[in-house]
Amino acid sequence: MLALYFDGQPALKDLPRPAPGDGEVLVRVHLAGICGTDLAVLKGYHNFRGIMGHEFVGEVAGPADSPWLGQRVVGEINIGCETCERCRAGLARHCRQRRVLGLLNHDGAFAPYLTLPAANLHAVPPEVPDVWAVFTEPLAAALRVPELAPVSPAARVLVVGDGSLGLQIAWVLALSGAEIHLAGHHPEHLALARPRGVATFLAADLPAGDYDIVVEASGSPSGLELALTRVRPLGTVVLKSTYTNRYPLEPSALVVPEVRLVGSRCGPFAGALRLLKDGRIDPRPLISRTFPLARGLEALDWARRPGVLKVHLDCREGN
Ligand SMILES: [Zn+2]
Ligand SMILES: [Zn+2]
Repeated sequence: MLALYFDGQPALKDLPRPAPGDGEVLVRVHLAGICGTDLAVLKGYHNFRGIMGHEFVGEVAGPADSPWLGQRVVGEINIGCETCERCRAGLARHCRQRRVLGLLNHDGAFAPYLTLPAANLHAVPPEVPDVWAVFTEPLAAALRVPELAPVSPAARVLVVGDGSLGLQIAWVLALSGAEIHLAGHHPEHLALARPRGVATFLAADLPAGDYDIVVEASGSPSGLELALTRVRPLGTVVLKSTYTNRYPLEPSALVVPEVRLVGSRCGPFAGALRLLKDGRIDPRPLISRTFPLARGLEALDWARRPGVLKVHLDCREGN
């Protein structure tokens, strides 16, 4: 099978179809999404080597005796060891020995087939088409924000960054009834948030005033700088961006105003699938372009262009 492989450089490689191990299934990938973390892999994130990609929707193609066979699925990306204290406490995503689909010691989704433990799968409801379901992973990551920093309807929240993840976070938080502001650099992206009741600003025009919660999803250290100047004393900054570089942080910026800085990564798939099934989130405006997997290198280049939102790969063989 032809897959998009990273070995210091991204390349299309002809590789054997993976064989599912104990407790694993083989998934035929339909669509995969390119996200900011994949672009971080290109710059050395986790020092990953292997087939890239972690956002996907597909259908279970094996083993022949799997109760999942033929089921359309999405899958959680963290694979824990299942035996350590963290895994037994339900924290496989924080297992020290964990593997992560397309990001850490496990081949990913930019391929016609991938393997995952059956325990990682979530069935996609028939009402949710593939182009929606492929957003389950990033939407779950957006839902992780209110899990870690509960947003009351009285809260004022600022989301920094108008990329695909920032927009999904703004949409999700707007469902809470709170006052949500989104700051970014692309008027055409900001426009996608306004119909959901989000007030939007070009970052330079952000009005004065403090926020109870600031979510940093800009993918750039300048976003964290902005977040720290706009959070109120005793407020919370939620950090979503996966910078690969070190960033100098003055501790007094947290200590003096007693600000909480919270890292946030993967979130609840079941909740994300419910939002998609009920039509409360329609992710289609986020799709910039879909490429066949055979043009995967062009797709990565496209995804790196400033102002591009979500790029999808059609991974079905023959496409
Ligand atoms: Zn991602
Ligand atoms: Zn473990």
